[in-house]
Amino acid sequence: MASLNEPGSEPTPVIAIVAAMHEELSAVLAQMPDERRTRIAGRDFWVGHLQGQPVVAVLSRIGKVAAAITATVLLERFGVRAIVFTGVAGGLAPGVKVGDMVVATRLLQHDLDASPIFPKYEVPLSGHARFATDTAISDALAAASVELLRDPAALLGHQVVEDFNLRAPRLHRGLIVSGDRFVSTAAESDALRRALPDALAVEMEGAAVAQVCHDYGVPFAAVRTISDRADDDAHRDFTRFVSVVASRYSVALVERWLATLP
Ligand code: SAH
Repeated sequence: MASLNEPGSEPTPVIAIVAAMHEELSAVLAQMPDERRTRIAGRDFWVGHLQGQPVVAVLSRIGKVAAAITATVLLERFGVRAIVFTGVAGGLAPGVKVGDMVVATRLLQHDLDASPIFPKYEVPLSGHARFATDTAISDALAAASVELLRDPAALLGHQVVEDFNLRAPRLHRGLIVSGDRFVSTAAESDALRRALPDALAVEMEGAAVAQVCHDYGVPFAAVRTISDRADDDAHRDFTRFVSVVASRYSVALVERWLATLP
């Protein structure tokens, strides 16, 4: 792992892989044979190859602003042509269980409200509340995810499947909502379900990155493993789930997807 940047020697990273948590980024970096570090805005951007594809991998840190800064640097300084966000999320819709995956079709900021001047949730002056993801990348991620979830024990081992009760995990596609809160009470997740009945999952970064990518006209996709039900038990086993289940899902999924690219 050399640090930075002899001019002219870097491959052009075409795809950015962004994770919100350390455990996930380390799993991605472990599969990159040649990563080189560039430090910008206090973040380490790892440029190299994954499955033979030129990529840059980075930890966004947690929250919408942190994620938006990270996305802007990826677009401005690395000229990436697509951003894929992987991470964990709390399940909101009934039937979105721990161990399931969600590929976003749209993302919305559930804590944005400039009403009555603008409609609730709408990003002022953009005309949008729900930002669409790229269909081709999302379709490919969804296909890879269905394949992965068919046999979680093949990836995680039987004991982990048993420990986290990951029987028959499913892929869901639809709305993911983001906000600067770790939603960890039943009262709060009930309120979100009432306000946004079609929301499948809640997290803290995706909609911010979707907004940045929309403004730059660059494709964006997001895939999240459900780590909790955004209720009073949301803290339980969270860290272990991220390192033992979600990070392995993320890297396996991204690798499967990259392997299908020309
Ligand atoms: N207690 C954890 C909190 C991390 S924040 C810790 O100490 O590490 C949660 C991270 O996972 C964020 O990146 C967010 O995007 C996602 N996430 C998972 N479950 C969530 C939930 N119920 N509400 C909001 N974000 C959630």
